[in-house]
Amino acid sequence: MIDDDKPHEECGVFGAWNVTDAAAITALGLHALQHRGQEATGIVTHDGVRFHSHKGLGLVGDNYSDAKTMAGLPGTRAIGHNRYATTGETVLRNVQPLFAEFEFGGFAVGHNGNLTNAHTLRKALTRRGCLFQSTMDSEVFVHLIAISLYASVVDRLIDAIKQVIGAYSLVALTENQLIGVRDPLGVRPLILGRVHGADGNAGWILASETCALDIVGADFIRDVEPGEIVLIDDTGVRSIKPFAPQSPRFCVFEYIYFARPDSVMEGTSVYNARKLIGAQLAKEAPAEADVIVPVPDSGVPAAMGFAEASGIAFELGIIRNHYVGRTFIEPTDQIRHLGVRLKHSANRAILEGKRVVLVDDSIVRGTTSQKIVEMVRAAGAAEVHMRIAGPPTAYSCFYGIDTPERSKLLAARNSIEEMAKLIGVDSLAFISIDGLYRALGKPGRDPKKPAFCDACFTGDYPIALTDHIEPRDEQLTLLAELS
Ligand code: SF4
Repeated sequence: MIDDDKPHEECGVFGAWNVTDAAAITALGLHALQHRGQEATGIVTHDGVRFHSHKGLGLVGDNYSDAKTMAGLPGTRAIGHNRYATTGETVLRNVQPLFAEFEFGGFAVGHNGNLTNAHTLRKALTRRGCLFQSTMDSEVFVHLIAISLYASVVDRLIDAIKQVIGAYSLVALTENQLIGVRDPLGVRPLILGRVHGADGNAGWILASETCALDIVGADFIRDVEPGEIVLIDDTGVRSIKPFAPQSPRFCVFEYIYFARPDSVMEGTSVYNARKLIGAQLAKEAPAEADVIVPVPDSGVPAAMGFAEASGIAFELGIIRNHYVGRTFIEPTDQIRHLGVRLKHSANRAILEGKRVVLVDDSIVRGTTSQKIVEMVRAAGAAEVHMRIAGPPTAYSCFYGIDTPERSKLLAARNSIEEMAKLIGVDSLAFISIDGLYRALGKPGRDPKKPAFCDACFTGDYPIALTDHIEPRDEQLTLLAELS
């Protein structure tokens, strides 16, 4: 279910090696990762002799439910991808995994994240004669591998990832390897799991989140480390670290909103993290109220934490309808206006005459918050206070999360008092950035060495925005290197 007034995760990736019916396992994994991308999905399998692929628009359930499609995806090795498009329009040629035949054999790749120098590299590659089939920046990886002068696929991959700048997790499949790669700062997630293998030995899973392991009965082994390449074949798992170690900067928004609450990321339960964030928020911004009401679904754990810490009753004062259509298809203001009324209903029995604290995870444009507050007031609430389990989202994300341009972000243009007025609440407060870090087990935000990427809150972008703001000289150097 898409909420058009939330930032959107760009993609989910999944890979399986030595697993009976790898396509079905991958479809299940992608189903668990559906929240990371709903526009399109694809699976590529290898049956020991050749590759097979299916790509389709829409949800996982719409694509892999018929026996004919699944029969066309034989093999014990597979990678899969769910897409939420931020670059390139949604047409089948833009659906991943991408597949290419090289001199070393076939190569399929799926990518979560965003390259911040894709445009620069694309221009240079096109000038060299590379013919792009899609408008996705992910295709840059394929062409960089194709033109690399190294012999082995792994050396070519290392050559390619050393030229890209960005936040990404990759899964790739060759004729004899499943490969996982995480960007040098580990902004985007990727985890490794183990399952009973098709041949009785170990089978291996790569996935964006641990919830995709649970659905296929795999054991969590570990997070792929920032800057790490894992190579999986019939001899097991090997690790290569081609980059100099750097302080990691995992995306803090994964904890606040993107990841599924039953996932564990970087050793932290997302559900527990959200409850702790809610508790910290209650400490920082208490309110005299009768009920704590989450904006469902993502605001629920934070609201539980807020209620526990404040001693005020937690109630489901807003009910979400899970069966409405995908209103994001036409994200006009009018449709957004309709969308929220289709998705949420006020529970009048809980709200009438009460002083209500609404807990949500973020305010992006503010359109949804405004309508929800209107609805809660119309249901008879005496006061409406809003508490947000993330700092104000005042900057756009360039690292694989679809956020509106900065001018459309409510927090970029308004003070908290102005936002409260626009949304129509009696009071509005956000968790502080230090409070967020504390809830996640850190002493606070060390501005010299922040533990997370928090650029959408602070504007401190940890990865160069080459295509956007880097000086022209740097782009020219890159072009010269490639030509
Ligand atoms: S800018 Fe925000 S959403 Fe984007 S990677 Fe960083 S923390 Fe995550």
